[in-house]
Amino acid sequence: MDKRRFLKTVGGILISASAGGVSTSAYALICRPEDSYFEKVRNFDADHVDDVHLSSDQMVILKSVVARLRRVRGIVGHGNFALLDFDKTLRVSRNYSKIGRFMKKEIDFLEDIFYRDAARYGFYGEKVLSGLTDRVPNRNRTKVRRTGQYLFKGTPLVTYKQIRDKLGKDVVLTSGVRGITKQMYLFLAKAQHTKGNLSSASRSLAPPGYSFHAAGDFDVGKRGWGARNFTSDFAKTDEFKKLVDLGYARLRYPPDNLLGVRYEPWHIKVV
Ligand SMILES: [Zn+2]
Repeated sequence: MDKRRFLKTVGGILISASAGGVSTSAYALICRPEDSYFEKVRNFDADHVDDVHLSSDQMVILKSVVARLRRVRGIVGHGNFALLDFDKTLRVSRNYSKIGRFMKKEIDFLEDIFYRDAARYGFYGEKVLSGLTDRVPNRNRTKVRRTGQYLFKGTPLVTYKQIRDKLGKDVVLTSGVRGITKQMYLFLAKAQHTKGNLSSASRSLAPPGYSFHAAGDFDVGKRGWGARNFTSDFAKTDEFKKLVDLGYARLRYPPDNLLGVRYEPWHIKVV
């Protein structure tokens, strides 16, 4: 994580305040304790005063892009969608009239989103894939039976197998390897849900390029729990307690982390 950047941001606000040169946004941060850094991370779904939003024109493009990506997923299937790279996504869209090719303004929008510095949203994680057309390695991954998900061979797969051996089949892989297209889709779908609040979206989902699902991290959950596995309720389960006891709960996003991200007890840090 970029701790220096975070400290610089917070420090900069404090210095400008103490020097008397308080900007409007810094003033708002200082005067509204509910919008302090930790309040934002704890109330990740709420709108906060200096959150970054898309314009109404960008929202129109966002909606068409999310719908098109969903149609891509419908054609290639969930498993392949998780691994799809950007060039192949465009190719598939051109080849299937049911999807329809991405328009230039949509591609420009996707490029703009990908190459933005996520620290502008308040997300301070590292970038894992630096180019929009970067791919996840081909030969180094394997499909995990009955999950529809992929894991990288080596430490991620070994770690998952150890977890299953020790905790049993009530712990399941809920999300493995994700390429740029899937992360883009998840982030933009979340941004649609937050009505264009990109800061709020980034407190729940790493922006495309910043997800460690492209590097080996994976999510686990309790069998039968569905979407509830992606809430802090997962931390109350016996399965999570066992993960902690056995030393597997090395979390990428622990409570009150300095990355600008909510607490994610389900996300296992591998790399
Ligand atoms: Zn995750």
